[in-house]
Amino acid sequence: MNINSIFKSCLLLQLIFINYSWSQNKSPNIILMIGDGMGLTQISSGMYANGNSTALEEFQYIGLSKTNSSNSLVTDSAASGTAMATGVKTLNKVLGIDSKNVSKKSILEICQDKGYRTGLIATSSIVHATPASFYAKEISRYNYENIAFQFSNHSVDLFVGGGSKYFTARKDKKNLLKEMLDYDLVRSIREFEKSNASKIGFFTYFDEPPSIINGRSPNLDRITTIAINKLSSKDSPFFIMIEGSQIDWGGHGNDSNMVISEFKDFNSAIKVALEFAKSDKNTLVVVTADHETGGMSLNGGKINRVFNTFNTKGHTATMVPVFSYGLNSNLFKGIYENTEIFEKLKKTIE
Ligand code: MG
Ligand code: ZN
Repeated sequence: MNINSIFKSCLLLQLIFINYSWSQNKSPNIILMIGDGMGLTQISSGMYANGNSTALEEFQYIGLSKTNSSNSLVTDSAASGTAMATGVKTLNKVLGIDSKNVSKKSILEICQDKGYRTGLIATSSIVHATPASFYAKEISRYNYENIAFQFSNHSVDLFVGGGSKYFTARKDKKNLLKEMLDYDLVRSIREFEKSNASKIGFFTYFDEPPSIINGRSPNLDRITTIAINKLSSKDSPFFIMIEGSQIDWGGHGNDSNMVISEFKDFNSAIKVALEFAKSDKNTLVVVTADHETGGMSLNGGKINRVFNTFNTKGHTATMVPVFSYGLNSNLFKGIYENTEIFEKLKKTIE
């Protein structure tokens, strides 16, 4: 072996070592999935109605989250979204601001500061309370046009959701989409799949998307597959929040079929996230809910044909389950406040 070849093999070893330590040190990806209004009965009913099966059965740790807000045992999606996204309990209807009126950075924004790529997916509009908790600072969740304005100035890398009307059919006559020049705003799932842009937005509907029963498309698993593909194709780690938004709306409507069909749609996306985490091995998947809706109970029936009743048109204060898989999933066992979900996610990226 001459000096030259020794030198070359040393260099090669060094490169292998650098590459190895780099991949070991890469921050973990986080996939946070929120089933809005998805309490234990919604899960149980969806599972039995789905041939006694859910992707949640493969998760490694299960915890329970206390969902009360700062002013009520019964939270709304804004206060509980804010709790999980920013780690503070706040008043119902408030987004990203604590009960002393201080704006809070969300886990998505903290991830961005650390060089993560970020994504938001919802089966509601993108300005609805749950996704908005991750980017908006707004005293009322119902100020949709203000929330849209904040979103247009935010730097989420990838988003999919409804509600383009809050960007284009506004009281101030602005067309915010014309100001979002750094985005490739695609118009179909095919364009979404094809786009190679570094920032992509896909408005699925002008208004709130319809339910699965009323023909919503594309399905959440298809959207999730493409989104994870895109976010994981770059060197930097990613954070994505995926919401099954309309499980809650089924609860409000005391509509068992709607709860179950929305759960199944969400469940299929959970399966996609889980399969990705299994093969990637550097990903944490957390699936939880912001609260239970409908005081739903599962009174009988049989596999694939369950019988439910409801005792309210609103939310309830029962704890909701938290399922975790992958890196740091053990942090999510036990019983804790919903604000702890933020702390545990933060710990994972540090
Ligand atoms: Mg929601
Ligand atoms: Zn609700």
